[in-house]
Amino acid sequence: MYWLKAKHIHHFYNFPMVIEPNKVVLVHYTLTEGTAEGEVIETTEGRDPLGFIFGVGMMIPDFESNLTGKQAGDTFAFGIKAANAYGEYDETAIVEVPKEIFEVDGKIPEDLLVVGNVLPLTDQQGNHFEGMVAWVGLDKVKVDFNHPMAGVDLFFTGSVENVREAEEAELSHGHVHGEGGHHH
Ligand SMILES: [Zn+2]
Repeated sequence: MYWLKAKHIHHFYNFPMVIEPNKVVLVHYTLTEGTAEGEVIETTEGRDPLGFIFGVGMMIPDFESNLTGKQAGDTFAFGIKAANAYGEYDETAIVEVPKEIFEVDGKIPEDLLVVGNVLPLTDQQGNHFEGMVAWVGLDKVKVDFNHPMAGVDLFFTGSVENVREAEEAELSHGHVHGEGGHHH
């Protein structure tokens, strides 16, 4: 009878899985500006939770360090200063460029060159990035290359929904499969 008892104890004292590198973590969260009472920037409320592989560089490092060691059912509430999130706002990242770089078939798409519009751009190395139109002149445009969230202090409130081992395929793809992730 001893083995039955031992098996039972092993099952009973199953350690809860804690958040650590290479674990798949599912969280529900609300991101607000500055404090918990700030303007809501995004939330998973009413949607799938966010799924990510912990400790592989997918998330803001301070976001992960605040979740380390937590387990399913735990809640969290913490702030991350802009400098440790998407960076401080950088005035020198606003660049003046001639309008003709936007020419398509010899025509300048004036309808796209509107303050606030986000333009997909490609540099000479073929890298894709985005810039927001900040100012439009007669033959020049100022493009703001700051991240849209630059200069914003973040505050996260939420709960840990699940913590599990990452599968081989998830680690090699670099993203979560199934709930909160990719379906393929
Ligand atoms: Zn995949």
